[in-house]
Amino acid sequence: MEYVCNNKDKCTGCSACAQICPKSAISMNVNDEGFLYPQINDSLCVDCGLCHSVCQAELEVSANKLANNIFLCYSKDDFVRKKSSSGGIFYEIAKSVITDGGYVCSAKYNGDFEVIHVVASSLEELNAMLKSKYIQSNIGDTYKIIEELLSNDKKVLFVGTPCQVKGLKMFLKKDYKNLLCGEVVCHGVPSNKVFKKYIDYVHKNSKLKSIDFRDKTTGWKDYTIKFEFEDGYIFQEKRNKCLYFMGFIDNLYLRKSCYWCDCKLENSFADFTLGDCWGIEKIAPQNDDDKGVSLLIINTEKANWLKNSLNDIYIEEIDSEEFLKYNPSISVSASYNDKRKIFFDNFNKYDFGTLWDYVYTDSKLKRLKISMLNKVK
Ligand SMILES: Cc1cc2nc3c(=O)[nH]c(=O)nc-3n(C[C@H](O)[C@H](O)[C@H](O)COP(=O)(O)OP(=O)(O)OC[C@H]3O[C@@H](n4cnc5c(N)ncnc54)[C@H](O)[C@@H]3O)c2cc1C
Repeated sequence: MEYVCNNKDKCTGCSACAQICPKSAISMNVNDEGFLYPQINDSLCVDCGLCHSVCQAELEVSANKLANNIFLCYSKDDFVRKKSSSGGIFYEIAKSVITDGGYVCSAKYNGDFEVIHVVASSLEELNAMLKSKYIQSNIGDTYKIIEELLSNDKKVLFVGTPCQVKGLKMFLKKDYKNLLCGEVVCHGVPSNKVFKKYIDYVHKNSKLKSIDFRDKTTGWKDYTIKFEFEDGYIFQEKRNKCLYFMGFIDNLYLRKSCYWCDCKLENSFADFTLGDCWGIEKIAPQNDDDKGVSLLIINTEKANWLKNSLNDIYIEEIDSEEFLKYNPSISVSASYNDKRKIFFDNFNKYDFGTLWDYVYTDSKLKRLKISMLNKVK
């Protein structure tokens, strides 16, 4: 079976090609690294070319970003902030869309703790979407569901990584006034296969019960990684001690396309961008209570209403230059880690900890040395 796009390394796995195919000839298959890539079943393909017409890895398309206003903001509800990664702004925007009779499409864990995009129509369903999941989410057939909802004049909010937003826009091929798209500032995404290997290393003999990559019990800036298992075992570590998180931050096993992400800043296809307001303790300490503050970038006119129509948030315009310095993922792609090849070449030989020591020969030192300064996610 052939791959859809000519430059496989640039494929983001958005699955727009698989969803647009009128013959269902394209399937998203997991590669050796655990990432999904589209492959064509030649016996079903009729060479219509639709898959190529929506491929962001093959086509140069320009974004229609107009404005660039940056705000710090957070929910006035402390409980919402506690259960969100930063200031709970995703929840407040999503709440407003649902209350208005609309739909929200974003990422949650399925029963096997894989990350998938789903469509929600109630406030209860939003809870599973909260918090950053540092694993690539599977878009499934949500672009098709969204197209159907939009055609029936339903309001839709889509939130995902920048390439998932771009994939949706290319799939739809036209603008819908009832669609609002948000992207998370994105450092890059690891695969579910790498995460599962790490979990096996942490606690092999029991199933996962819950995952929290952004536990705030020690504060928002000094958050911990927490996994609960069905046998009662709880694993909780500071992020600069958690090997999975350290490998993520060191760009050891991101999807290949993440190293050449072309959706940053003016190339964003989203109406708004959401991130953590890192650096706040230095630049705006009066707003830092360590409960989490979001950075909101308004990219288009369509998202302008977020500035003044959300009653349950605190919002303040900020100096963009200052804040961008503290959050490199907003403007630049993750740099390629030369150890990535060693990691994947030896993936099946060792458990996660041994593999880590094999990759980082100065392992113990490296664990201590990794500087989280200016690199916190
Ligand atoms: C893989 C990843 C990398 C990130 N890297 C950075 C970074 O470098 N710098 C930075 O400032 N912020 C980064 N963020 C964003 C940040 O962690 C927060 O999501 C953001 O601050 C919004 O917080 P919130 O409290 O408003 O909402 P939250 O409650 O955190 O909600 C976040 C939204 O992101 C969606 N989401 C969660 N995981 C995924 C996923 N795997 N794929 C697609 N969508 C997902 C959720 O479903 C929800 O819609 C990253 C997020 C992810 C998922």
